[in-house]
Amino acid sequence: MDTQELLRTLPKVNRLLEREDVAALALAHPRPLLLDALRDAIEETRDGIRHGQVDSVSEDDVVLRATVLLARAAHRSLHRVINATGIVVHTNLGRSPLSEVAVDAVVEVARGYSTLEYDVESGERGSRHTHVEELLKRLTGAEAAMAVNNNAAAVLLGIAGLARGKEAIVSRGQLVEIGGSFRISDIMRESGAKMVEIGTTNKTHLHDYESALTPQTGLLLKVHSSNYRVVGFTEEVPLADLVHLGAQHGVPVFEDQGSGVLIDLARFGLPGEPTVLSAVAAGADIVSASGDKLIGGPQAGILVGKWHTIQKLKKHPLARAVRLDKMTLAALEVTLRLYLDEKRLLAEVPTLRMLTIPAAELESRANAFAAAVAAACGDAYDVHTAPDVSRAGGGALPMADIPTTVVSVASRTGSVVELEQRLRLGEPTIVARIKDGRLLLDPRTLTLAEEAEIADALARAVREA
Ligand SMILES: *Cc1c(COP(=O)(O)O)cnc(C)c1O
Repeated sequence: MDTQELLRTLPKVNRLLEREDVAALALAHPRPLLLDALRDAIEETRDGIRHGQVDSVSEDDVVLRATVLLARAAHRSLHRVINATGIVVHTNLGRSPLSEVAVDAVVEVARGYSTLEYDVESGERGSRHTHVEELLKRLTGAEAAMAVNNNAAAVLLGIAGLARGKEAIVSRGQLVEIGGSFRISDIMRESGAKMVEIGTTNKTHLHDYESALTPQTGLLLKVHSSNYRVVGFTEEVPLADLVHLGAQHGVPVFEDQGSGVLIDLARFGLPGEPTVLSAVAAGADIVSASGDKLIGGPQAGILVGKWHTIQKLKKHPLARAVRLDKMTLAALEVTLRLYLDEKRLLAEVPTLRMLTIPAAELESRANAFAAAVAAACGDAYDVHTAPDVSRAGGGALPMADIPTTVVSVASRTGSVVELEQRLRLGEPTIVARIKDGRLLLDPRTLTLAEEAEIADALARAVREA
């Protein structure tokens, strides 16, 4: 058959819809998706004919291809992942998992109506800020507080609210980029403030700030180095000194704390980060932080500080554009409530629980997990436990190597690249690390149930390999 004849044998969509197997697909899938899949499968076959790769048209093959395309289109794009990387606040994997009580609160307010902006006592309109303001004040010692969509929005609102049309002074050592596309210099431009850079990458002194102050100065900004460190010959000005300088000249001071540490982590062998509390205590006018880093809550931006300053930000037009939705507020309120009881906090907020698991517990978890993994993988794989490091990740505790014990898997005959791929593409999606040719599974970011799921997935992957 020549190409023209072959093209004439391509099935029509209507003809395919009459088939019994396609009728079954129509029952299981929305019609627009089914039609797209059939058209795409026919189109692919047409291309194949034109390129000489198809020399006979089989209707069954077209339907088979449409079935594959349909399965792909029907699969939810945003779905659960099992995180075996040991990176606790993994930005690409959604940062902090929520506590069970926070999840319950989200479900409750999502399902029905809620007190989002309703004051039960007066029966009148309320403010959505009330749900977290008292808690944030109590936990940070600040006079007032609000929460917005994320910390990038908090920084944008803070700078726009205090320094639009004015100058904002920031040290060159703090002109950072945090993840994807958050650059202080870009945010500054969008907020309408004129950025005045001072000092050098490694050193900025108080007199650098002093000599940059002009009648146009609207803000002194300090950005915490949450995802990098300048090490060696360095100097930055302590927040308390900036506050003192700001007070002398009537200029507010804004600290972007970032990671959102609300408790002393040094007790757990983690690096002692400056906390939101210490920034408030030092006298900053506003302090901002992420809700989903070390606070362990939902994506949100926390703004705490002086009463007048926060009132100004609440009334700013941008505040409406970056406001939180009810589901996030529910999760944030419940997460913050857990901070009132530290025992519950460390047991129930996954991010804090995972960061503070004792090393001995991780080691015994890894031993049991390794036995299950070895049984699943069989003789073709070498499985043992090994000391390694977990990370806080996601712009939090940048330099911290947190000791852990991983389950380490190597193929005796080939590589583990295919194994890693099968885990990633399987159901559920499992994300693991490969290091020096070995597949590493860190129990720190896994539940016991997830460890069992990984063992099952490995058994399947090895069988199908
Ligand atoms: C993470 C971080 C941000 C960005 O916060 P998002 O919640 O991701 O918007 C800004 N500043 C600092 C210092 C950070 O650590």
